[in-house]
Amino acid sequence: MRCPSCELTLSAETSALEECTLCGGPLIANMDDVFKYKKYNIVRESRPAQLEMAQDIWNLLEREPSGTLWAEGGTGTGKSFAYLIPSLLKIQDQVLSENANKKTGSRRLVIATAKKILQDQLAHDIPMLLSKLHLGNVASWGVMKGRSNYACWRAVRDVPEKDRRQFQLFVDECRQRRQPADKNLWVGLAPEWWDDVCIENCLSGTSCPDFEFCQPHPGAWNIVVTNHHILAYDLARGPGSLFGAYSTLVIDEAHNAIGAFRGAFSKELREKTFESLLKKLSKDDNLRECIDDSGVTSALRYRQKIENNGREFITLYRAALARADKNRQINPDDIVGDLENFAEKIETTIDLTRDLATNFVSAKFGDDFYRAMSQRMQKFNRRLTTIQEFIAALLGFNKSNDTNFVVTAEEKAILIQPVELGTIVGPELMKIPKKIITSATLAMADERGTPSFSFQQEQFGVTNAPGAIAGVYPSPFDYDNHAVLYAPYDMPLPPKPDDPPEERAAWVDKIGAEIARLCELVNGDTFVLFSAKKDMLDVYAVTQPKLRVADIPIILHEGDAAAIKKKYDETPHSVLFGLKSFWEGIDIPGDKLRQVIITKLPFPHPFDPIVAALNRKYNDFNRVSVPPMIYDVKQGSGRLIRSKTDRGFVSILDPRIWTGGSGGKERQLGHLRSLAANPCFKPLSYGKRLFSSLGLNKVVYDFTTLQTYAKHFFRRVNNDP
Ligand code: SF4
Repeated sequence: MRCPSCELTLSAETSALEECTLCGGPLIANMDDVFKYKKYNIVRESRPAQLEMAQDIWNLLEREPSGTLWAEGGTGTGKSFAYLIPSLLKIQDQVLSENANKKTGSRRLVIATAKKILQDQLAHDIPMLLSKLHLGNVASWGVMKGRSNYACWRAVRDVPEKDRRQFQLFVDECRQRRQPADKNLWVGLAPEWWDDVCIENCLSGTSCPDFEFCQPHPGAWNIVVTNHHILAYDLARGPGSLFGAYSTLVIDEAHNAIGAFRGAFSKELREKTFESLLKKLSKDDNLRECIDDSGVTSALRYRQKIENNGREFITLYRAALARADKNRQINPDDIVGDLENFAEKIETTIDLTRDLATNFVSAKFGDDFYRAMSQRMQKFNRRLTTIQEFIAALLGFNKSNDTNFVVTAEEKAILIQPVELGTIVGPELMKIPKKIITSATLAMADERGTPSFSFQQEQFGVTNAPGAIAGVYPSPFDYDNHAVLYAPYDMPLPPKPDDPPEERAAWVDKIGAEIARLCELVNGDTFVLFSAKKDMLDVYAVTQPKLRVADIPIILHEGDAAAIKKKYDETPHSVLFGLKSFWEGIDIPGDKLRQVIITKLPFPHPFDPIVAALNRKYNDFNRVSVPPMIYDVKQGSGRLIRSKTDRGFVSILDPRIWTGGSGGKERQLGHLRSLAANPCFKPLSYGKRLFSSLGLNKVVYDFTTLQTYAKHFFRRVNNDP
């Protein structure tokens, strides 16, 4: 315990005081109080790694003027309490300290996560912690979602007639409670017209009397909980632009952040932008009524223009697609004439929208109804202007020769994307004094087998930052005695796209047979993870008849992942064949998951435009393709042990785990043959890094040894004598 006013420190072991014995002011807990002596009744058990992480964060917040903590907290470490508690106590400390009160934004914290489930957890934990730490009246907090989640209280007129009454009642209730009209509060499925009424379309802003309560104002909170995408938009416009100035940023589930950041720093134009404009026009009863009553025929011309613009865009991206290389990358030089033409057409449509907006408020039609129609036209105008900005960016990009961006043509879109985020996002992150970047998979073993954060540091552009520290806070689970890595030498090398079909068929047969015997060994309750749908379907066709005989059902990942997971949970002894969304974020503690099988090392696709651009720049497989693969395998294998009592196997059926990048196919096969003749546990090159990164020390390569472990591990589960 510590008094922020007179700096008196008391040991929590000997004191249960809440007030300073010198000045009578409130005392602030330290990390030992909370995590070691379990004061405040927050943690049930003392976990050394959690205490260490919390202490490192406290030191960062307390002592350093600025700095970054890179923190890998293994499963079960209790990462969120380890960053929440020191951050909340620091806010209390600063609020109570007179000096800190004078600094704007000095006691504000932003926490960004990848998944909503973690945001919901934080929304549950923060008020609980504020209450237990007696901070309820010191710190305010809230969850900031994207603006499309909240409806405008004044948009009743924009709602189709049939739903208008329900919407009116909904906003009345929100107004009464002084809370934003959050999509989550709407009873039933979100209506298809929601985008038309969300606050993104607001033209009034502070001039509206409802502005104070119709939308969240994160600048008024001490703690803002948000997601990576919204954080990315804040960073893209300069830190604090969305949330108000903040001094501390926590990025949790950070291994996913770069993907989300890429979206905020990219630009795109999709065919559906025009489709949605047209849909809005054709559904707009008011606009039709307005055209009939007023005779403003130019409104019809406007509709035609949008239709034409949509058709021209289709021609544009088809032309771009025809000129794209195998990575879908295009040279804007090839379509510059088409682009300029298109820009002119959009310009005339924008002019017409502007004219219509003016006409609707002219003396002739100057009642409330036409004023509302004018606002509607202004909203259309705003959407068209963003299209115009995209074209300008594309033409500007063409002149800039910026090699850190690629332009790609997709089936129904054109995109401008950054290749390396670090150089763009890093300078923005460096403007935030304290940063805690954390995840269960953030470090990766280097060539010597030592955990390294350098890949992620480069991705975030936060390298050699002053005050940067890194820590690996190990999981409290007993992996050595509860988990076995099975990595056989005798599996076939995965086929390449240009290999003969019989080679692929042989691979499918062998993988299918191995999966079947592994699933029988543990009696189902297995995840089989794939990175390509075709592989999953082909292997399913071979495995399903074998497992049917053993009465083990396979659940195929087709459609909604949540529904598939539910089916898996509810089906005894089931095996799940899953794609990307089952590699991470799925938590199945207990006996329902006893084995994770990884069929093929998930290297990024070489024809992905970003991967291709990185390969052109570095020409280094170990730099470009190996780290993402290792992170994915770490995530996939991390599904297995989710509680202290969990036990099971991670099986990797790709023999490249042993051969690494040791040359061509013949050399790899030679290496596998020599391993089979003279067994050892020494993988080569990236295989070595992968083994060290996984942290599974018990490795077996033959099925017979695995059977022994199965008897030992699952006797209790299977009720064997
Ligand atoms: S401030 Fe804007 S979004 Fe909020 S009620 Fe007023 S018009 Fe609607």
